[in-house]
Amino acid sequence: MGTAIVKNFINGEWIQSRSATLGDVWCPATGEKIAQVPYSTREDVDRAVQAAKAAFWEWRATPPLSRARYLFRLKDLFETHFEDISRTLVREMGKVIDEARGEVRRMIENVEHATGVTTMMTGYCLEDIAKDIDCTAERQPMGVFASIAPFNFPAMVPWWFMPYAIVAGNTYIVKPSEQVPLTQTRIFEVVEEAGFPPGVVNMVHGSKDVVNALLDHPDIRGISFVGSTPTARYIYKRCGETGKRVQSLGGAKNAVVVMPDANLEKGMPSLITSFYGCSGQRCLSGSILVPVGEIAGELREKFVAAAAPLKVGDGLDEKTQMGPVVSAQHKKRVLNYIEQGIKDGAELVLDGRTTQVPGYPNGFYVGPTVFDQVKPSMTIAREEIFGPVVTMIHAQDLDQAIQLINTRGFANAACLYTGSGAVAREFKYRVKPSMVGINIGIAAPMSFFPFGGAGDSMFGDVKGHGREIFHFFTDAKVVITRWL
Ligand code: NAD
Repeated sequence: MGTAIVKNFINGEWIQSRSATLGDVWCPATGEKIAQVPYSTREDVDRAVQAAKAAFWEWRATPPLSRARYLFRLKDLFETHFEDISRTLVREMGKVIDEARGEVRRMIENVEHATGVTTMMTGYCLEDIAKDIDCTAERQPMGVFASIAPFNFPAMVPWWFMPYAIVAGNTYIVKPSEQVPLTQTRIFEVVEEAGFPPGVVNMVHGSKDVVNALLDHPDIRGISFVGSTPTARYIYKRCGETGKRVQSLGGAKNAVVVMPDANLEKGMPSLITSFYGCSGQRCLSGSILVPVGEIAGELREKFVAAAAPLKVGDGLDEKTQMGPVVSAQHKKRVLNYIEQGIKDGAELVLDGRTTQVPGYPNGFYVGPTVFDQVKPSMTIAREEIFGPVVTMIHAQDLDQAIQLINTRGFANAACLYTGSGAVAREFKYRVKPSMVGINIGIAAPMSFFPFGGAGDSMFGDVKGHGREIFHFFTDAKVVITRWL
């Protein structure tokens, strides 16, 4: 791959941006520069929007089943290129190969789910709403939509939205994270093979300028954003000002509550994966570990014993259990949080700062880290660290654990480990976050359920994938008819 400059995909062609500004793409495992990404310009964005706009009317007139057939073809092609896409993902993002395969599988599941367009996009009708008058509500596609993606799921996130948008008859523009542009580029090579009509699907690489150009463009009807909370809030506000539909998913700080009756032996593998999977760089990752009552000592001991020997290394090595974090800058950020935790008086029980991986001296590695005796007011308890750092906050009882969860702004996910159905019911009934795991450490909805949080973790009404997403990508046209 060398240090080639990645290209945009516009109107069915690979086009080099004329932008003079380039960003570097790194391999987090080795610390090597592997490519460059253009910070595309407003002109690039406008070119993509014009192509998508020109393709719209013919695409929307294509019968839904014919549109779905492109997705069936795409699904087959993704299966063929499955391993290659997964390996590209590991190379630029760092997660371990099995996590990458899981992500690509989830991407494909969205393509599969979207093929159900003919049942999910139907409207409704009612005869005789008044004497001799009938009424129908049809769902019509709206035009050009776009998505803006974060770095941590370079394959999957744009596909939470795009298959539904295009199968509903819209045309589309994807803006990948500038930190990880190679995976979506590889995916778009497969999209090209599927043979969509030019302009139906487009990709523009870049950073803030591309985002702002998309937000300002009068011909874009809606934006699906996934990223950190400050950016999510900004996108939501700006779309409100420019009159676009918007679903804007933000950051997280998820708590995992462990009751005294939890089965630690069976639960421990998924507890460990919750906190250390993707090196903690998941919006569904556990971040705060909350032992309730007398289980605290045993939980701490067993959790640290399971975390300490995790094999940290290059994600392409099948034996690696935890990969690096995404960039040198992000590693510095995570290390700063660890310093802050020590300064604020938390007890550092497991220290990942000095973790070395033999043969990979320049990789961006941080080992599994655990803090105990964390107070809810401390920085490491309040802010999203997005790394392999666990903050333990003890609770006396379920009420106190729920209060801890419900008094913070982030409300993406919350998990509970217990043997009691009644306790589990009370937990899911009362907690504010809208993705809940019971004896599951990562509460990730599959493509046929909605994905998204509450509070500061999501701005907007319609979540990612699920059924309701067809409402985001269509307008209900109501026709009231009387034959004279
Ligand atoms: P980020 O907010 O820095 O970037 C996300 C996207 O926004 C990128 O494409 C980037 O180019 C663009 N962007 C960044 N700053 C911008 C600005 N000031 N103006 C306009 N555009 C801007 O997020 P990230 O670091 O790439 O991703 C990690 C974050 O994403 C974490 O907070 C994580 O919790 C969150 N995330 C949330 C979900 C979810 O479902 N809620 C899923 C995955 C990741």
